[in-house]
Amino acid sequence: MSSCVTFNFDGRFISVLNVAAGLLREGGLLSLRRVSEGELTVEALKLLGCRVPYLDEVKKEWCSLEELGLYDDVSPSPLRVFSSTEELLYRNWPTPLVRLQSLSRSGVAAWAKLEFYNPFSMSVKDRVGWAMVREFLERNPSASAVLYEATSTNTGMALAAMAAIKGLKAKLFLPQTIQRASDVLLSTMGAEVHRVPKSLTVETIGEVEELARRGRGVHLNQFDNDANFKVHFKYTAKELDLQVRSAGLRLCGIFSGIGTSGHLSALSLYFKCRYGDHVGVYAVQPAEGHAIPGIRRLETGMKWIHLVRVDRIVDVTLEEAVEGVLRVARGDGILVGLSSGAVATVFEKLTSELERGDYVLVFPDHGFKYVKQLSKYFKAQAQSARAAGSE
Ligand code: PLP
Repeated sequence: MSSCVTFNFDGRFISVLNVAAGLLREGGLLSLRRVSEGELTVEALKLLGCRVPYLDEVKKEWCSLEELGLYDDVSPSPLRVFSSTEELLYRNWPTPLVRLQSLSRSGVAAWAKLEFYNPFSMSVKDRVGWAMVREFLERNPSASAVLYEATSTNTGMALAAMAAIKGLKAKLFLPQTIQRASDVLLSTMGAEVHRVPKSLTVETIGEVEELARRGRGVHLNQFDNDANFKVHFKYTAKELDLQVRSAGLRLCGIFSGIGTSGHLSALSLYFKCRYGDHVGVYAVQPAEGHAIPGIRRLETGMKWIHLVRVDRIVDVTLEEAVEGVLRVARGDGILVGLSSGAVATVFEKLTSELERGDYVLVFPDHGFKYVKQLSKYFKAQAQSARAAGSE
């Protein structure tokens, strides 16, 4: 099945994206005199989080993206005092970038971007929940809608948090393959939780769309909502860019899991346009027949990945993902989630083929949600050890 048929591609958005990609390639604006309200360039600059230099402000012919404030919205609160929990999210960015001794080999360094430092779901999905709700409320300022969403937990937690902050309600739909603890976590945060008898496929998403329509709710739909891609393009990518620059790294590649494909696609477009195609992009998906929470196989339907360049798509089994978690936990002392373990394993598998340099591994969440899968792995290990002992 082609995934493209089920998504709404907004032609204007794609044109703006192309202009933004051009601006990143150029590193600035060549002829400021051409900029005027209504132009694609204006929207592209806004998408990048830059100031728009209108005609009468213009003193010269060339302006770099930095001069236009590309990095200005990466502004952490230095003493970590926040006026609201919403501010706790975006004024706490960048999330940390840390070198991993467990995965780095001579000349090939692994740097993990720790998305579990986000406060609501302890995952990358806080960014998406925040962006989708903010965009929705900008368009519908007095809305008191119920938010419907299909989620593998993290987006649900982020939406439940945003609903609590904004005085909205959230109705969440979890696939059967997701750990039972999620129902408790999401209900604790005030959401209504339902189970769907499938994994997260385009059909499931369609069913939630229909339920939202019948219930007169709002289906924000992280799989199709461009706010997902935009928040990673405007924030995640730029903060990573600043971190890489300030650490003086030689960025050769980015490894990342794919669920909606939001973060990987935004990072791919941003870094390949700004620094060139030698920045490799490696997408990680579950091997056929394996369920790894948060990531899915490309053919189950994704939107933005089809608009960007990806160098390799690599399969990982659930066991390999758990082994990646153990490697990082026992080598670096941090307990990451299964999709992070999957990314770690793929990086390890490919290390010998990689050119010398620095690589970023996006670790989307923390390991605390995956006790069930981890204990199942330990039981299976103990069983095979017993079987081997009795042979
Ligand atoms: N890993 C985890 C744990 C996730 O929750 C998700 C998304 O839900 C992903 C990876 C994939 O991220 P994206 O949806 O940006 O592709």
